[in-house]
Amino acid sequence: MPEKDLGKEMYDFMHELYPICRSITGNGVRQTLKIIKSHIPIEISEVSSGTKVFDWTIPKEWDVSSAYIKNSKGEKIVDFKNSNLHLLNYSIPVKKKVSLAELRTHLHSLPDQPDVIPYLTSYYKEDWGFCITHRKYLELKEDTYEVFIDSKLSSGSMTYGELYIKGKTAEEVLFSCYVCHPSLCNDNLSGVVLLVFLAKSLLKKKNLKYSYRFIFIPETIGAIAWLSINEKNVGKIKHGLVATCVGDPGCSTYKKTRQANAIIDQAVVKVLIDSGKPYKILDFFPSGSDERQFCSPGFNLPIGSLMRTPYGNFPEYHTSADDLNFVKPDALMDSLSKYLQTVYILENNLKYVNRNPKCEPQLGKRGLYNLIGGSKRSKISQTAMLWVLNFSDGSNSLLDISVRSNIDFPSIKDAADDLYKSGLLKVSSSN
Ligand code: ZN
Repeated sequence: MPEKDLGKEMYDFMHELYPICRSITGNGVRQTLKIIKSHIPIEISEVSSGTKVFDWTIPKEWDVSSAYIKNSKGEKIVDFKNSNLHLLNYSIPVKKKVSLAELRTHLHSLPDQPDVIPYLTSYYKEDWGFCITHRKYLELKEDTYEVFIDSKLSSGSMTYGELYIKGKTAEEVLFSCYVCHPSLCNDNLSGVVLLVFLAKSLLKKKNLKYSYRFIFIPETIGAIAWLSINEKNVGKIKHGLVATCVGDPGCSTYKKTRQANAIIDQAVVKVLIDSGKPYKILDFFPSGSDERQFCSPGFNLPIGSLMRTPYGNFPEYHTSADDLNFVKPDALMDSLSKYLQTVYILENNLKYVNRNPKCEPQLGKRGLYNLIGGSKRSKISQTAMLWVLNFSDGSNSLLDISVRSNIDFPSIKDAADDLYKSGLLKVSSSN
């Protein structure tokens, strides 16, 4: 499929998920996972409210059917139906009449961005509230308002989804995203969409070296619960990425693992360099998304985060402006392509040994030297062969060689394939 159509397909999938009111628990997450399951065969799990997961406890389940504020004329001035961001996520049920002064203590708006609705939550403190544009906030007059929130907070469960693609080895690559934000596109849905399409692509591949695990979890509490449930198996995770904010038009940004120089760090940085497009690299910091849990000192997993503009760094972040207009099909496609290139490096990053290490082997007599050539491409492949031959001593991987030579990874890999076929390389036993 041409890349343009695939970007559009990703975008259309986001369109389908956009209206659902999600939270860290409840039917919005279930509905989202059910739609994901119609694309890739995830397993859906439930963790009961009250379950202890490390220092945390799975909260009560939250569901909402409707919520509004009416003025004394009976006009709905704020309605959850128009935007699920209007309701403070996890609001307790309320039905009462309030003065403007009391109502104001439960209203949230952004004076600096008067035309957008902020996104706010109150998962662990029982509260209720509405989020509105600051313009609307300023319009409110003295009146008696009717507040109605038809929500339910009860003992239930937290839901998450997981897909395991078995490769030749039990060593795993973990891809994680969160499914807990309501109608927000870049911060949340872009990561979900990217991982669904990445999984679709890997499901079609034969002979994968690594096993791949995809998790679709509520942010923070979901990652903590998943790590608590799977603690015994996390040693299998050799590389990983958290997918978030991958659909905005900004340049790619890579947030490194806490380890700082893991193979995944080198691989993603190489993909970004090879892309020839602008990019940013950030050192690990302990705030952000679920890398906070994966890279907590008790786990310290080699998991980074490949995004575009990081959370909190774009004005649309956690507001109604992070919508379907903010995310672009070609940005989604470009991010997916970078994830696929990273997988390509991980899958092909072998160490070889040069079987003819005393002086250069004569490439011409093996048909490996382009005597007449001279095209840019053939020059790169010739140079790549010299790099691979020189550094294939069993200690350098193809990624090491491609970083050191500043030659793109696919060219190094192609050169190694040609040299291997001609008998000049053998696979190192140190792999
Ligand atoms: Zn967020």
